[in-house]
Amino acid sequence: MIEHSGASLSAERDHHICVRSALRNAERLCNKHGLRLTSTRRRVLELVWQSHRPRGAYEILDQLTREGHRPSPPAVYRALDFLLANGLIHRISSRNAFVGCAHPGRRHDAQIFICDRCGITVEQADNSHSRRIQRNAAGLQFRIREQTVEIAGLCPSCAGQADDT
Ligand SMILES: [Zn+2]
Ligand SMILES: [Zn+2]
Repeated sequence: MIEHSGASLSAERDHHICVRSALRNAERLCNKHGLRLTSTRRRVLELVWQSHRPRGAYEILDQLTREGHRPSPPAVYRALDFLLANGLIHRISSRNAFVGCAHPGRRHDAQIFICDRCGITVEQADNSHSRRIQRNAAGLQFRIREQTVEIAGLCPSCAGQADDT
């Protein structure tokens, strides 16, 4: 089953709805599991969701500092670890950055498409793909910790510009 996140690779017009629903989902999940969405965790999640582009820890730290908070880097890392551990964000290893998870609260392996030019990302949770990897891993007696697949390329709008030039 392939599921598209609310984000599309070509438009960000409903973006504020993404951020709002991401925060609502996070609150619901934290309530359900007795976790505390502290103000730092909440604001960090909001900043990760602020664009559909991967955001690095230092970018988040800079933004919080500009807003007049004085968070320590460990506090930001702890908030990111909390969001990762609870499935609210994904780590994009190739960018050393994070994106909001489009399917929080559901066990899934993510495939994340990332545009090389504008950095826009979109997540799909295609379990047929991850099952095949699990089968191969079992054959190798390899224990998978996580399997986020990062796919680099061009989004439709950047691909269009590339064709024009
Ligand atoms: Zn996800
Ligand atoms: Zn692009």
